[in-house]
Amino acid sequence: MRFTEDQLSLQQMAREFAEKELMPRAAEMDIDGELPMDVYQKAVDMSLTCLDLPEEYGGAGLDMVTTCLIREEISRGDSGFSITIGSNSLGFKPVGIAGNEEQKQHFADIITRGGFCAFAITEPGSGSDAASTATTAVKVGDEYIINGRKCFITNAERADVYTVLATTDKTKGARGLSMFIVDRDTPGVSTGKHEDKMGIRVSNTADVIFEDVHIPAKNLIGQEGKGFKIAMQTLEKGRVITGAAAVGIGRAALEYATKYAQVRKTMGKPICEHGQIQALIADMGIELEAARQLVLAAADAIDHNDPNKGKLSAMSKCFAAEVIERVCSHAIQILGGYGYMRDYPVEKLYRDARIYQIFEGTNQIQRLVIARHMLQENPAD
Ligand SMILES: Cc1cc2nc3c(=O)[nH]c(=O)nc-3n(C[C@H](O)[C@H](O)[C@H](O)COP(=O)(O)OP(=O)(O)OC[C@H]3O[C@@H](n4cnc5c(N)ncnc54)[C@H](O)[C@@H]3O)c2cc1C
Repeated sequence: MRFTEDQLSLQQMAREFAEKELMPRAAEMDIDGELPMDVYQKAVDMSLTCLDLPEEYGGAGLDMVTTCLIREEISRGDSGFSITIGSNSLGFKPVGIAGNEEQKQHFADIITRGGFCAFAITEPGSGSDAASTATTAVKVGDEYIINGRKCFITNAERADVYTVLATTDKTKGARGLSMFIVDRDTPGVSTGKHEDKMGIRVSNTADVIFEDVHIPAKNLIGQEGKGFKIAMQTLEKGRVITGAAAVGIGRAALEYATKYAQVRKTMGKPICEHGQIQALIADMGIELEAARQLVLAAADAIDHNDPNKGKLSAMSKCFAAEVIERVCSHAIQILGGYGYMRDYPVEKLYRDARIYQIFEGTNQIQRLVIARHMLQENPAD
């Protein structure tokens, strides 16, 4: 794919931000899980913390291809930071898709002043099966009262605002789900278990609990019963960007291992001159490039509202997530024993990579989505 001058210059800006602000602190962020707020503020100043916030609301308002180029760079710098800003976008997306002017402005105020958003659908009893959401929203007068518990929510403890999936009619299953805006400071909102994760450790993950939370009826996004559709549209867009972020991790691993292979010597020559190491490097390059091209094809399909966008989006996330597990594993192999040690960055990249097969729909769920599209495309005669 060819890119415009604007796209290339934004990509370069994100690359410089990642190299200057994220890479030098990635190891520290991985150990203590503390988000450096000075770095976050710089990202806010550069409109990086919610790339799809429209320009009229003070955001960058970028298309999907440009968003993917930028998120690949940020994730190359640190994936946990990338997921943190990505969750702002995921939190905003339902409002961007189906919200009204007032709701968009509410999110814009939070994002542009450096706040955080979160997208809360997963519950202890419903992850892959989002249609079985148990959190309830009961309409009483001009309010909804929300009760339930969400788990594994990115930005949970940092967020100023959550977009929350809840059932307004249990008898209707997925068609009874609705999406709401819940401000963090509403009485009855609290956070629960803080997760201690394998990777992407600077991203924050915790439970969000709603106990008799009264919100104004105007906090409903779109219409009652449309929440599941809004959530799926949100994830369709989110998955492509997740695929791009995955490619960023793989690129960081490939770059480090390739440089290392030219310096480390065994049997009288740099290991990059051994055929088996060259094969690992070549395989990493082939797979990563294929993943990048699939991500960009999916992003382009979304930008052009192509009928294949849903299938390509699921394919790109699924494929990129699996590619980077192999790429990071090969990078560790190239570094030998050093690759297994925390003094070198590739073991962190390997840990960071693993989540990509799980969140925003596991890879099993992506295959389900892909197969459904393919079966519809090829009906039996
Ligand atoms: C670090 C992290 C951050 C997250 N951030 C967020 C967030 O910000 N917001 C949010 O709402 N959620 C978030 N999640 C939740 C995440 O999206 C879910 O964990 C994921 O969707 C899987 O749900 P589950 O964990 O309940 O697994 P389950 O649904 O219990 O699945 C268990 C296993 O069964 C498989 N499986 C389930 N159903 C099927 C099927 N029909 N066919 C084949 N296999 C199946 C799954 O693929 C998986 O391998 C996050 C999770 C993590 C770990």
